[in-house]
Amino acid sequence: MTTIMKFGGTSVADVAALKNVAAIVGSFRQSRPVVVVSAMSGVTDSLVTSTIIASQGQVAEAIKSLESTFARHKSTAKEGLSPELAEAFAVEVDQAANTIAGLLKLSAEYPSLRQELYDAIVSWGEMLSSKLLALILFEAGVNSQQVDARDCIVTDDNYTCALPLMPDTFVRTRAKVLPVLDQGAIPVLGGFIGATSDGRTTTLGRGGSDYSAAIIGAALRVDEIQIWTDVTGVLTADPRVVPEAHTVERLSYAEAAELAYFGAKVLHPKTIQPAIEDSIPVRICNSRAADESGTVVCAQTITSPRTIKAIAHKSGVTTVQVTSARMLGAYGFLRALFEVFDRHRTVVDVVTTSEVSVSLSLDDASSLPSIISELETLGTVRIDQGQAIICVVGEGLKEMSGIAAKIFNAISDIPVSLISQGASSINFTFAVAEEQVHEAVGRLHHEFFREQAVSAA
Ligand code: ADP
Ligand code: ASP
Ligand code: MG
Repeated sequence: MTTIMKFGGTSVADVAALKNVAAIVGSFRQSRPVVVVSAMSGVTDSLVTSTIIASQGQVAEAIKSLESTFARHKSTAKEGLSPELAEAFAVEVDQAANTIAGLLKLSAEYPSLRQELYDAIVSWGEMLSSKLLALILFEAGVNSQQVDARDCIVTDDNYTCALPLMPDTFVRTRAKVLPVLDQGAIPVLGGFIGATSDGRTTTLGRGGSDYSAAIIGAALRVDEIQIWTDVTGVLTADPRVVPEAHTVERLSYAEAAELAYFGAKVLHPKTIQPAIEDSIPVRICNSRAADESGTVVCAQTITSPRTIKAIAHKSGVTTVQVTSARMLGAYGFLRALFEVFDRHRTVVDVVTTSEVSVSLSLDDASSLPSIISELETLGTVRIDQGQAIICVVGEGLKEMSGIAAKIFNAISDIPVSLISQGASSINFTFAVAEEQVHEAVGRLHHEFFREQAVSAA
């Protein structure tokens, strides 16, 4: 029996938070936990900023911008550890600072290596937090050992968004982590990071520590993957937009994957994939309210017809419409269209088609100018930037009648486009202008969850 316990950045933000994590991990000692940890909150952002400053040729400023980050690690260690351990950790922080300074210099000098160097630099957030948490656990009397996640997660060399490679990752993770567990110690690994098979550091994309936790969980075939964060589970909507949003007790893998994909930041979109194969439950818990049970994501869910579970949204989306009479009755048109996005390695999120037009949405519009000029050879192209996708999710949507009407009644004065019911029939997705998305989500939440909010009060 083993459990993964992943703690996000806010859960390890300072000494109080770290000690709280040590107490939570200690209380789970019986379930042989393996701990995965993010960088202290804000640290990845600071490291990313330093790479941007360096790429503008300002190496000294880039190095200087990280001074407070290193000082924060040292002062946290000083507050939370014995003087000897704090001193040993401070030496490691200084070594990290020197290494990072060298990497920032290289990044200014060699623009072609920037992505590789970005990964080598930002990975230090998790390397330091995992070391620090292992020491804090040790100090709290919990036998623990840092394990370098780069020796476990083997990836391709798609820097900044690397893809883990199986079965190598599983084999190496077992080889590195199981002996530590067998010695009775709790392994502590940094999330988000990995390495190519020839040992070059990579990262899995922002927010990727959840994904690391799930990969390590699948490798070890654990009983449960716990994602500890700053809210009690997956809520009915983003609490920053809908303060009255409440915890959803249970979600199916498919429901959670849709919510994560369409903007529920609480889970990295890829987290669910590794859990599905061995049906490992994923539990989202609150490190500030450890006794609340949070949300369990598993194969089965509780479904009532025509009810929904949650509403996700994602801003900063671009919609593209291609209109062409050539589409009518012609084959090969859609292939030609999607090949354009393929060539530019651009992910398409939502797609709808009519007889003579195709509409779709993109998250990443960085290749848009070249994409547009290629699409113009296929038809008339219309681009709308500043859009947002809203995704209403629930297995109960399979019995649709009445739901679409309820949705569009609630936001009848807000123009919508790109309406689609996902292939799995558990999501209903559409686009609105970005400036209206908060209003729309608020109204939909009120429409669908009003009764639950009243009965919970
Ligand atoms: P961590 O640092 O622990 O990984 P994140 O900031 O990545 O935490 O994710 C947690 C945050 O996700 C919450 O504080 C909340 O603001 C945001 N969030 C967005 N949508 C949802 C949702 N549907 N349920 C819960 N949290 C959500
Ligand atoms: N520290 C990384 C980030 O901020 C990964 C994570 O926290 O999941 O993106
Ligand atoms: Mg996160």
